[in-house]
Amino acid sequence: MENTKKIPCLDLAGQHQAIKKEIFEAFEKVYEKTAFSGGPFVEEFENSYAKFIGADYCVGVSNGTTALHLAMLALGIGQGDEVIIPANTFIATAWGVSHAGATPVFVDCDETWNMDPTKIEAAITPKTKAVIGVHLYGQPFDVDGIKAICSKHQLFLVEDAAQAQGARYRNKTVGVFGDIACYSFYPGKNLGACGEAGGLTTNNEKYFLHLRSLRNHGSTVRYYHDEIGFNYRMGGLEGASLSVKLKYLEGWNNRRREIAARYQAEIVNPKIRMQVKPEWADGIYHLFVITAENKEELVKHLSENNILAAYHYPVPCHLQKAYAHLKYTVGSFPNAEYLASHCISLPMYPELTDNEVSQVISTINSF
Ligand SMILES: *Cc1c(COP(=O)(O)O)cnc(C)c1O
Repeated sequence: MENTKKIPCLDLAGQHQAIKKEIFEAFEKVYEKTAFSGGPFVEEFENSYAKFIGADYCVGVSNGTTALHLAMLALGIGQGDEVIIPANTFIATAWGVSHAGATPVFVDCDETWNMDPTKIEAAITPKTKAVIGVHLYGQPFDVDGIKAICSKHQLFLVEDAAQAQGARYRNKTVGVFGDIACYSFYPGKNLGACGEAGGLTTNNEKYFLHLRSLRNHGSTVRYYHDEIGFNYRMGGLEGASLSVKLKYLEGWNNRRREIAARYQAEIVNPKIRMQVKPEWADGIYHLFVITAENKEELVKHLSENNILAAYHYPVPCHLQKAYAHLKYTVGSFPNAEYLASHCISLPMYPELTDNEVSQVISTINSF
């Protein structure tokens, strides 16, 4: 064994060392201006992020979960409404719906491990107001397929692009297909702040103005409150760190694509399955998830070879205790359940070296 250094699933240290000087210079500017909450550094990021996505407007908020919550409120979704979301996603997609007082209705995934468009119509009821599509692991969902159903039934479409910043669907950056798109800038995401942050983009001016007010105590004029609002602002230090990192995002994403392409081409073990990638999907591989029938043995084999795997996600949303009252059972969504019990996330971050990638590949092929 030529390398005894452990290879983690995600390591943020390399990236933050490389840009430390630039980030600290940005922090210093925020500090000098004491622009700690919202303000010019958040606005600067909002403007460049809207441009990056190709959307008219961007609103920076405190995290991805509050972004989803506000998206529901801006669309007028609340008590008594239902919102369709995938069973296979990070739980925060469902929190956005629940925090608005509405009910999440789950739908199974297909072999792309994203929401199966053919299963959506069966979940629609007179109470359904919207679908939240999730570009999971960084791979776009079937936008045309899901949009067609939303149009037919007059449902809003919200994109949860928390894991997919810079991913492309039919050559267009995701985040411009729904009524509103939500992003997380949690440090572990493919664009992460030095702190907690999130955002929304939209082309609808009415939603934009409402979102801006909602995040700031329901206020557009200081100390005048038009409705019950929230303190969901983004911090200035977070905004400044994001502006620095956004310049590197395309390069980091391309390195992720390079690593993924090697995993896809060079992992040849028939015991392993991967996310099916339709020809219109150009993902950014926030995560690289595989499944193995005998998952425990593979994890042991990986760890014996100094590779630390992780699980995204071990329990599907519909079987979480928090949603026991919705009365889903084991067997409700077989694909999401299979994935939850067999998924392993391989190391994936731009700073992985070619040697480390080779080590992951040869370890899996020798299993
Ligand atoms: C991370 C994530 C969120 C929530 O973002 P936070 O910033 O952690 O609140 C929402 N949806 C998905 C798919 C995510 O991966």
